[in-house]
Amino acid sequence: MDRLAIVVPCYNEEEMLKISSEALRGVLNDLVSKGKISADSFVMFVNDGSKDRTWELIEEEHKAHPVQVFGVNLAGNVGHQFALTAGLITAKDLSDVTVSIDADLQDDITVIEEMIDKFHAGNDIVYGVRKERKTDTFFKRTTAQGFYKVMELMGVKTVYNHADFRLMSKRAVEQFSQYKETNLFLRGMVPLIGYKTDCVYYDRKERVAGESKYPLKKMLALAFNGISSFSVKPITMILGLGVAIVCICILAAIYALISYFTGSVVPGWTSLMLSIWFLGGVQLLAIGLVGQYIGKIYIEVKQRPRYNIEKVLADEQE
Ligand code: UDP
Ligand code: MG
Repeated sequence: MDRLAIVVPCYNEEEMLKISSEALRGVLNDLVSKGKISADSFVMFVNDGSKDRTWELIEEEHKAHPVQVFGVNLAGNVGHQFALTAGLITAKDLSDVTVSIDADLQDDITVIEEMIDKFHAGNDIVYGVRKERKTDTFFKRTTAQGFYKVMELMGVKTVYNHADFRLMSKRAVEQFSQYKETNLFLRGMVPLIGYKTDCVYYDRKERVAGESKYPLKKMLALAFNGISSFSVKPITMILGLGVAIVCICILAAIYALISYFTGSVVPGWTSLMLSIWFLGGVQLLAIGLVGQYIGKIYIEVKQRPRYNIEKVLADEQE
């Protein structure tokens, strides 16, 4: 039977902790009684340097439920993506399969069962995907959807309307841990792992207690980080712009020369006109070209795994 670890990053979640713990233990008990996971499955709370009593509460929960509630205390606030990574990598050594979920229970915990079913059906990664965003404010909804659109435009492959509520098998987390990059953007990285994947759909609820730790500023930072950690398209766009301006320069040159020979220009206009366009175009072209090399360096520096083997069929005898 598979041991499940539910990984929950927590930052200043004192209002939510007991509620989350109870709800998630309920899920564990239910799945254990249905024989879908082993009895030593657990919830792992990762305290991301909270300033409130979150860690004390995690300790209390662990004392009250030593088998079902585990805790990881990070030395300081490192942000959701790193906290989640710390939790997943710690949990993978203790479990066979992990599910990551936010502490605020906005994601529907009842679909965890469906995730486990899909895991048993042979999927290594199961994404939780939001059906609608009825409960989000208009602002949050449009900005979040704009976020997915921009990511797509920039060539970052993400699963639409999927945040960080997902199931990952032990080997998927192990492969994920091979991605040594420091600029983490989990939603872009997990699809790179490969393996068989599936989705479960649910309605996102409102936060039960406490408030969002993702204000617009953090959301914009996440989006920019996502693009700049995954795509060299912005650099290619500069190169494209350089090429376009050099083309315009040629047109401008023809126009300026015609004007010059038809004698309808102020002295000095032609040379000034041509140098502005020419230099601008050449500079952008050169920056774009240098950028192509920087883009390559950037990809090399990440040292991402070049491939991930799913299965090898070979002659078993020695
Ligand atoms: N979180 C974290 N570190 C941070 C900010 C947030 O671990 O620096 C956690 C937070 O406790 C929650 C999850 O990340 O479990 C998602 O945050 P939140 O619900 O505030 O984001 P939203 O749902 O509003 O996008
Ligand atoms: Mg939330």
